[in-house]
Amino acid sequence: MANLSDVKGVGPKALSLLNKIGISSIDDLVMHYPFRYEYLKRTNLMEALDDDKVIVDGKVESIPILMRFKAGLNKMNFRLISNSGVVGVSIFNRAFLKNSLQVGTSVIVIGKFDKKKNIITANDIKLGTLSDKAKIEPVYHVTQGLTNKNISTYINMALLQFGKEISDYIPDNYINKYSFSNKRTALNIVHNPPTDEKLEEAQYRLKYEELFSFMFKINYLKKQNKANNKGISRKVPIDKIKDFINKLPFSLTSDQETAVFEIISDMEKKGRMNRLIQGDVGSGKTIVAFIAMYANYLSGMQSALMAPTEILAIQHYNNLKEILKDTAVNIALLTGSILKKEKLDIYKELEDGSINIVIGTHALIQDDVIYNNLGLVITDEQHRFGVNQRANLQNKGIRPDILYMSATPIPRTYALTIYGDMDTSIIKQRPKGRGKIKTYVKSNSEIKDVLQLMLDELKKHHQVYVIAPLIEDNNENSALASVCDLRDKMKLAFGEYYNIDMVHGKMASSAKDLIMQEFIQGKIQILISTTVIEVGVDVSNATMMVIFDANRFGLSTLHQLRGRVGRGSNDSKCVLISDSDTERLKIMEKEDDGFKISEEDFKLRGHGDLFGTKQSGDMNFKIANIKDDYDILLKAKKDSEEYLNCTTNIDEIKLKLINSMNNNS
Ligand code: ADP
Ligand code: MG
Repeated sequence: MANLSDVKGVGPKALSLLNKIGISSIDDLVMHYPFRYEYLKRTNLMEALDDDKVIVDGKVESIPILMRFKAGLNKMNFRLISNSGVVGVSIFNRAFLKNSLQVGTSVIVIGKFDKKKNIITANDIKLGTLSDKAKIEPVYHVTQGLTNKNISTYINMALLQFGKEISDYIPDNYINKYSFSNKRTALNIVHNPPTDEKLEEAQYRLKYEELFSFMFKINYLKKQNKANNKGISRKVPIDKIKDFINKLPFSLTSDQETAVFEIISDMEKKGRMNRLIQGDVGSGKTIVAFIAMYANYLSGMQSALMAPTEILAIQHYNNLKEILKDTAVNIALLTGSILKKEKLDIYKELEDGSINIVIGTHALIQDDVIYNNLGLVITDEQHRFGVNQRANLQNKGIRPDILYMSATPIPRTYALTIYGDMDTSIIKQRPKGRGKIKTYVKSNSEIKDVLQLMLDELKKHHQVYVIAPLIEDNNENSALASVCDLRDKMKLAFGEYYNIDMVHGKMASSAKDLIMQEFIQGKIQILISTTVIEVGVDVSNATMMVIFDANRFGLSTLHQLRGRVGRGSNDSKCVLISDSDTERLKIMEKEDDGFKISEEDFKLRGHGDLFGTKQSGDMNFKIANIKDDYDILLKAKKDSEEYLNCTTNIDEIKLKLINSMNNNS
């Protein structure tokens, strides 16, 4: 297939701008879908109201007069004869249009109508006339230096030159069954929609294709799992596990206990374990995973625990060492910042089997790590572990039992569709002896009360989290709270007596980890942060969280954030600050069941927040949307199963689908 640079008009500069917005191939380019459409339909100015957004076409009636102001500002005025009479037009900073706006030129003017003065303040002027039907214009994500028009031109050129070569993942019999158009035609339509009906039809076809290939991959893995479901079967000495549980510093909740024995029974079965532990933040999933690893050790095999971040890996490592300190288990920590020499030692010991349990980040399964006899892989925060990584592990030829831990409560129907091949253990009860978490929704005008509440906690030598949606103020969103700004304000209020610091996603991870460590050790009393704090860090002395601009977050995210407090025996508080959307936020005051909250969230906001962009994993669809297109998903699921199971030899499309899975991890 040709390269992006082979598209006529795409020079080196355009190429780098396209790369910047994630387009690096012709496929990427033609599947850079509009994120919305604008409908250009002629407005009747007689019926338009003051301040309406209007679109009119007509002929330029007077020579445009250009006025230049200070600081490069300019304004142009002319009269336009439109269908609904003469109207004044003014537009800012388009001096360059003056020469093309000769008297008599046909133009389309889009802007705001001042009824009294009979003037349109235009934000756009195009050459041409409107047809009587509405014209549908695609609107793309752009970047500085790359306009909507540029993108549209490149896409259409690519379709013209290479339209026939674009990969299509729908097998012929389904194309026929649903009378789908070919892919090139569908792409042409979504980028240049003639009518709403045609657009919807084309979108449907492209969504179906995307969901079909997604479900195909899931089903393919499922089938492979079943086909060579030669898992590892071993005997677990149950008495020793019971002894071990009895010696823990706390007693397990009955949900935890059930999960433990479900896992052990999986280990003893011949089939391969593929289990998800779903439990609210703080419900105590980790100890269940630890016991599973100990059981695996007792049965003579190695375990690997993958955490999404280094800091969490370290926390798990320290906790596990403490819990297994009276045993002979050899535990290692393997993360990015471990010295090369030490790393090589660990590799060696994993290969010769002297390390029993290794804890680390993704590198554990992706690198050239060779295990002696890996029997169990556990991943924390399961939603970060995608289809491709699952496939990778299988390609390495090892078939360990797999256990996922997740605090993201995916509503059951969706979970069944997407992770239908998994068994689940659900942990609902919170461990005994935990303090309560009370949640309050407050407005910005009540900030003084909030500061007082913070002071009360600080005086008790407790710690406080403060969360903001932005890192720094930028002009565009200056109304929102930012981490940097809040740090300055908190320093003014509390800096004399308390240590205050911040973490956010733009910091180097070593710097971030350092500050987190200081917070864990109690050296910092107020930690200000973006949602990077979301992932499982455990500081039981933190008893209060204040979330600014809480309306910016989905309820599931808020619930996960809130789960960072209330981890010790003290009661905790969570304050949500917002001047809008308070009805929705008040759900948080009443509800503390993560599953119910996620259902509410799902109803209100769709999948966006639930699966979250940063938790993307598999859910990064270009055109489909799991919630709105759930019916298409179900159809694609059924069809892809049927297709996978049909007896014909592997055809070209099957191969393409399978390859696309193995290539990108
Ligand atoms: P999560 O499910 O969010 O990963 P963790 O596993 O980190 O939660 O558990 C949170 C805290 O609760 C830990 O400090 C853990 O030691 C403690 N914990 C877990 N189970 C129990 C229990 N049954 N009784 C008391 N404390 C528990
Ligand atoms: Mg956890």
